[in-house]
Amino acid sequence: MSADRAPDVQHGPTIIARPDHSISRQDVDKDTLRVLYRLKDAGYEAYLVGGAVRDLLMGRRPKDFDVATDARPRELRRLFKNSREVGKRFRLVHVFFGPKNIEVATLRSAAEAPSADGDLYVDSDNEWGNLESDAFRRDFTINALYYDIRDFAVIDYCGGVADIHAGLVRAIGDPRVRFQEDPVRMLRAIKFAARFGYTIEEKTAAAIAELHGDVLKANRHRVTEEFFRILTQANRAEGIRLLAKFNLLADLYPDWVRAIGPAGLDQVIEFLDRVDEDAEQERWYSIELVAAGLFVPLLDTVDPGRDQFNRVAARVTGEVRQLGVDMDLPKRLINTAVELLRGQLYLLFFTHRENRVSRFVESPWFDPTWRLHLLAFGGIAELAPLRTTWLAYRKRISRPIGGTVNSPDRRDIFSFRGRTGGGRHADRGGSDDDGEWAEPELVDDGE
Ligand code: ATP
Ligand code: MG
Repeated sequence: MSADRAPDVQHGPTIIARPDHSISRQDVDKDTLRVLYRLKDAGYEAYLVGGAVRDLLMGRRPKDFDVATDARPRELRRLFKNSREVGKRFRLVHVFFGPKNIEVATLRSAAEAPSADGDLYVDSDNEWGNLESDAFRRDFTINALYYDIRDFAVIDYCGGVADIHAGLVRAIGDPRVRFQEDPVRMLRAIKFAARFGYTIEEKTAAAIAELHGDVLKANRHRVTEEFFRILTQANRAEGIRLLAKFNLLADLYPDWVRAIGPAGLDQVIEFLDRVDEDAEQERWYSIELVAAGLFVPLLDTVDPGRDQFNRVAARVTGEVRQLGVDMDLPKRLINTAVELLRGQLYLLFFTHRENRVSRFVESPWFDPTWRLHLLAFGGIAELAPLRTTWLAYRKRISRPIGGTVNSPDRRDIFSFRGRTGGGRHADRGGSDDDGEWAEPELVDDGE
């Protein structure tokens, strides 16, 4: 370890030299390498940091590459013409390469000292620091690894490499303090544990079990974002199981948990298991379709032999809208869930109405409705005749059944809000991105 790297380290970090780890520059994004070298050549420290180092050590392809440096934001703006400063709570510089941007963060100091009233919540995090302080303010040991562009070594202050080998998600420092500082970290612990099939280390898990209720103090925008990350990554069923196990689902979404009941939760988890299995076969669904699956247990009490379509549809629609707003889901997502649940009712109620069947299979809603049906109810043998009928009509149309997407759907959940905003916190601002489907209305007029 060179003295200038971390002058005040007592025990010192573990340094894993290039021959002793698996990260190769070939696996690092070219533009990120360019940023790293530009910083180094200008005399600054420059590291690849966070999720990218973690993923590369695990042999996974990183989603994005973040850079840390001792250069200050103003120096970064001077060094990179193609850059912009972003963020208030957390000032960063984005360096642009076409549509892509690389996040460059200046090394931070530790979190601020707790305020006098004992509230540990940290809402400003811009005190500059060195590599050591930057490592210790990060959330989990596996996320606090640095790849040094000077000598290609991996620098590990917190035992992250050992935890990768052990498959552990471990909070850095005292987990109780770290979760009180930022309760969203509890959701992040579950996100990483589910995604990698890791175990949440004992003290970290005990702190979540104790402090889960604090999640309500967190910014709902960040909570929704993490919830959807869990719902759209690999092993989403396990993610929801963990959220339920630590009571976080009941904290965050009490009305939904009550409305679907314990059996409904099992049903949702089975649905997500199927989504997971399909993803392993490289068959992916949109976020809209996965989110609609959260509400399928609301159909459990429906009896097509006795109920009236219009009345049931009105009830389910109302419930989904109310729950969706309570859950802070973007309006566009709620609208799609409503249509897809109505679609389920359509399949149930109108199997014997030939002109409705032949009309609905032509509608743009049919294919996603069909996919949702298979994922949620495909295992129910009594519905096999229903499926045979609908499929027979659908097969008359030459184009293959859609309702899947070409790659894992990684769209930012807040790009779904559209012009009308959504959820209880509709004032967050955001883009007018047009989701992926048009929004036709399902016809339910009489004939
Ligand atoms: P992903 O693959 O999901 O992007 P990631 O580890 O890159 O995972 P990000 O949310 O992109 O996660 O954050 C980048 C890094 O910033 C993390 O690896 C971690 O070191 C740090 N970080 C993010 N959120 C927090 C937080 N709430 N508290 C402390 N450190 C955080
Ligand atoms: Mg990341």
